[in-house]
Amino acid sequence: MTKAPLAAARDDLKHTSVGASVVQPRRRGDAPPRCPRCSAHGWWNGWRVVYPVVAFASAVVRWELSLARVRCSACRHAFTCYPPGFYPRRQYQLDVVADVVAAVEIGGESVATAAAARSASPTSARRWSAWIAALADVEALHAVAAHVDPSTATVATSMPRSRAAAVLDAFEVLGAALGRTGVAAVERTGLARVLGWQHRAHGDVIGLVTGPRRFSPAMARGGRSHGR
Ligand SMILES: [Zn+2]
Repeated sequence: MTKAPLAAARDDLKHTSVGASVVQPRRRGDAPPRCPRCSAHGWWNGWRVVYPVVAFASAVVRWELSLARVRCSACRHAFTCYPPGFYPRRQYQLDVVADVVAAVEIGGESVATAAAARSASPTSARRWSAWIAALADVEALHAVAAHVDPSTATVATSMPRSRAAAVLDAFEVLGAALGRTGVAAVERTGLARVLGWQHRAHGDVIGLVTGPRRFSPAMARGGRSHGR
């Protein structure tokens, strides 16, 4: 892939207002990436247009993004190339989701206020809180963090407001542990860093509606090979 659009656009977006829309030009590298299932070479196979909502420090922006498609020459698997920072099958990207849920569950904002500030609906905000609360066990996340970086201090949030708050906090612990071991991430929040890394490293996608909905420590440790 060419330069990551998130990194390239970050400076341009300093003065972009909430809810602004940004159309990104099509771009792709010279050679398609290898197949995630069998590692064979493939060929470029068209584009998929998606409309992700991305959170920057100063703004929440809806993008129109053309993602290159590749078809494997050996096993014929077709897949989409996601630049770093973009999570599959999800309009509101994980940093936005984490921001909204943290504002409500940790910061004590009202659902309506937190959602409106990020151009989301209150219904989505409530669904995201429930999803995060059920996403992983706090103890398991802390265990994985200690596994990837034994220097991790597992200081849990004192009296979290809710289970979603405790899970979000544990994802921050694991995201920070990954960062200390050199895992590069363009994502800001622990939730987005951990799931983004899992997607890039193992091809796993945790779904909000379909597919696996729970984070698996075995996946994080690399206990599984390539994705489904
Ligand atoms: Zn293949």
